[in-house]
Amino acid sequence: MPTLVSVNPATGEPVGSVEAAAPPDIGHVVARARAAQPAWAALGLAERSARIKAAAADLKAAADRIGELATLEMGKPLPEGKGEANHCADSLAEDVDEIADALATELLEDKRTHTELHHDPFGVCAAITPWNFPVLMPMQSVLPALVAGNAVVLKPSEETPLCADLWARTLAAHLPADVLQAVHGAGDVGRALVLADVDLIVFTGSRATGVRIMQDAAAGLKRVILELGGKDPLVVLPDADLDAAAAFAVRNSFRNAGQVCVSTERIYVHRDVEQPFVDRVLERTRALRQGDGREPGVNVGPMVNARQKQKVLEQVAKARAAGARVLAGGGDAPGNFVQPTVLAGLDHGMDIMREETFGPVACIMSFGSDDEAVRLANDSPYGLGAAVFGERAHAERVARALNAGMIGINQGCGGAAGTPWVGARNSGYGFHSGKAGHRQFAQVRAVSRPAVRA
Ligand code: ADP
Repeated sequence: MPTLVSVNPATGEPVGSVEAAAPPDIGHVVARARAAQPAWAALGLAERSARIKAAAADLKAAADRIGELATLEMGKPLPEGKGEANHCADSLAEDVDEIADALATELLEDKRTHTELHHDPFGVCAAITPWNFPVLMPMQSVLPALVAGNAVVLKPSEETPLCADLWARTLAAHLPADVLQAVHGAGDVGRALVLADVDLIVFTGSRATGVRIMQDAAAGLKRVILELGGKDPLVVLPDADLDAAAAFAVRNSFRNAGQVCVSTERIYVHRDVEQPFVDRVLERTRALRQGDGREPGVNVGPMVNARQKQKVLEQVAKARAAGARVLAGGGDAPGNFVQPTVLAGLDHGMDIMREETFGPVACIMSFGSDDEAVRLANDSPYGLGAAVFGERAHAERVARALNAGMIGINQGCGGAAGTPWVGARNSGYGFHSGKAGHRQFAQVRAVSRPAVRA
C-alpha cells in the first residue's frame, strides 16, 4: 500500500502518514459505497439525521486534536485550527437540522392536482476538498450529502490528510459501514474518483481543477457542485469609517496567510481618503506576527507548500517589474513563509490584479467615482465575495452593482444563518449551504395525483 506523508509547512518536518489509495483501488471503494447506500437511504431523513448528530460528542472530544493537526499540516495559527474544529463540532447538530429541514418533503396543491416534492438521494457522492479549511470544507461537503441519503467517498487534500482522516473516522464510527469512507492521495486519486461510478461530485478548490472535474463529469452527465476561487474586491468609499475599513482589509488580506477563497485580494479606495487609509493599513500590517502557528501570538503562518510560495512571489515580482511599489513586506522569508505584503502603484494589466494570489498580499488602487470603483471591482472573471465600506445607503447602492455572489457592507461577506455559500461567474457552478444549497445534494422527484375535492 502506498503511504502519503504529511509535512509541516512551517518546519519542513513530517507530521505523520496515512495509507494512500492508488487510482485502481477507487472502483472498489465506490462499489462498497454503492452497496451501503440503499439501506442508509431507507433509514429515512429523521433517523439519518439522528445518527449523524450522535457523532457530535465524539467530534467535540477530538476537536482540539483535529485542530492541532490542521495547524501542523497546513500552518494556520493554533487558535484558528482549534477554533475551526471546535466550531464544526459545536454547530454539527444545528447544521444537520437545517439541512433536514431543507430536504423535508413539500406538498403543493392546486384545484386539480396534489403534488409531493421529494428530495431523494442521488446515490454515491464524491467529496473532494482543499487544505485551507481542512475540517470545515469536508464538513460542508459531507453533511448535506449524508443527510440527503447519499453514501459519500471523501478525498481530502493531500496537504491535510491526517486532520481530515481523524474527522471523517470519528463521524463514520457512528454510521453504518461504508456510508462515509475517506480515501487519500493527490489529484490522480481525485480524478479516479470523479471518473468512477459516482453520481454527484462536490468540489472545493481551484478554478483550473474545477474545469477539469466538470470536463471529466460531462460524459456521464454527473451532477457537480463546484466552489472555486475568487479575487475578492474591497471598496472603501470616501464616507467609510477608515479604522474599521483598514482593520477589515488587514484581517481579510492576511488571515490564513491569505489562503482563503474569500480573502480580500484587491482593495479600491477613494482617492480623497487614500493616504489616511493606507497609513492605517500599514500600521496594522506592521503589528502582525508571522511564524510557526504553534507559537503564541502568531497570527500569520506559512504558505501551505513551496509551490504556493513560489506562485505568490512570482506574482509580486512581476508586478514590481511592471512598476508596482512595495509599501510593506515584499522581501523573501525563510522556508515557506511570505512576508505580509502591501502593494500600490498597480493596474489591471498586472497578473496580481487578475489571477487569484492565495497569499498574504494586499493590493491597493485608488478610484475617483462610484462608477469607476464598480467598473474596477467587476473587472474580473471571478465573482465570489466582495465588501464595501462606507455610509450605509451609499455602500448599499455600490454593493448592488457588484457582480459577486456574497457581498458584505461594512463587514465581510459571510451572511446570517441560512445564507448560501455562493459564487457568481467563474467562482462557482452550483453552490452549497442555505436551503437552496442543501437541496443541490438531492434529486427532486415530484409525485402527483388528482386532488381530492371537498
Ligand atoms: P490546490 O492545488 O491549491 O490544492 P486544487 O484545486 O488542485 O488546489 O486541489 C483541491 C482538491 O482537488 C485536492 O483534494 C486535490 O487533490 C484535488 N484534485 C486535484 N486535481 C484533481 C483532478 N484532476 N480531479 C479531481 N480532484 C483533483
